[in-house]
Amino acid sequence: MRCPDCGHPFSRVLRAEDKATHEGEEYISRRRECRRCRHRWTTFETQDLPDLDAAFRIQEALHILDQAKAKLALSQPM
Ligand SMILES: [Zn+2]
Repeated sequence: MRCPDCGHPFSRVLRAEDKATHEGEEYISRRRECRRCRHRWTTFETQDLPDLDAAFRIQEALHILDQAKAKLALSQPM
């Protein structure tokens, strides 16, 4: 879900709001915040969209793991 303001690809969900049904499709409105510029906006999403936030969390966790490994490597005596 790209930020409409700066185009940053990752946003976090502040809260999932009510479900709405339109032409047989169920939508969830979500309040989102850009991870870069903190711009906030509301989206209407169908439930079967890929969860980019989950993808981001996995990426973030891997990044933290990499950093931890790098630190460990640095702290080991040569
Ligand atoms: Zn932004």
